[in-house]
Amino acid sequence: MRLLNKVALITGGSSGIGRETALLFAQEGAAVVVADVNDTAGQETAQLILDQGGKAAYVRADVSKAADCENMVAFAEQTFGQLNIVFNNAGIMHSDDDNAVTTEESVWDLTMNINVKGVFFGCKYAIPALRRAGGGSIINTASFVALLGAATPQIAYTASKGAVLSMSRELAVIHARENIRVNALCPGPLRTELLMKFLNTEAKKQRRLVHVPMGRFGEAKEMAYAALFLASDESSYVTGTDFLVDGGIKAAYVTPE
Ligand code: NAD
Repeated sequence: MRLLNKVALITGGSSGIGRETALLFAQEGAAVVVADVNDTAGQETAQLILDQGGKAAYVRADVSKAADCENMVAFAEQTFGQLNIVFNNAGIMHSDDDNAVTTEESVWDLTMNINVKGVFFGCKYAIPALRRAGGGSIINTASFVALLGAATPQIAYTASKGAVLSMSRELAVIHARENIRVNALCPGPLRTELLMKFLNTEAKKQRRLVHVPMGRFGEAKEMAYAALFLASDESSYVTGTDFLVDGGIKAAYVTPE
């Protein structure tokens, strides 16, 4: 019960990392607000928690819209009385996102609106709520591609995650004396829908796995455990970090055969 009496808001909670984290946070005692644009799957996440005897509610929020983000925070406070943990995790990887020459401006704008502005809005509206609660923890999902270049380009996505990383660092510094911690979670490549729909051949998978010392993709659940640490009071002296959970990619030059 590492999150007993805490209220957590999770964007992108309908699927992948967000859903696994919602389930884990609830098991650890948190009341969880699931926010997403996929209503059916979001309600399913909330129902899974209720079926386990936990506390959860779903709210529709397109994180690229200011009014939706303002509303999801108000919903969390109205439904569960306070807000202590915010996991700004919703993000997209556009199928037409490629190199600088070929990527359309519309793909760039959509990616930035969701992946960067979505995190900005999530912080903008949640920080006053965390202040009202006496402090809290914000976790923003970046990516290992914010730290490493790849010759399999997704230029808008990569730039968006770099922005999440630097935004999180500065927020951490600004709010450090308000008992508000801000950390960026940097997942490595995961065996979730988001990535696997791109890596739809064995050759594409191997092109990536050769760079992963552990030789496998990560699991959404492994990100949920990292988010749990960052959300809980166990990480009370951890703020402003680029929290890598990447199977060792960032550390590797040559990997085991
Ligand atoms: P996922 O596609 O399974 O989940 C993403 C969720 O975000 C979905 O439920 C989707 O409906 C929601 N979403 C999309 N646009 C939204 C919007 N405008 N407003 C609200 N919700 C929206 O993906 P995932 O793998 O769980 O990814 C979660 C986060 O982790 C993303 O930010 C992603 O960029 C990041 N990430 C993923 C990987 C990976 O390999 N899967 C690696 C590094 C970082």
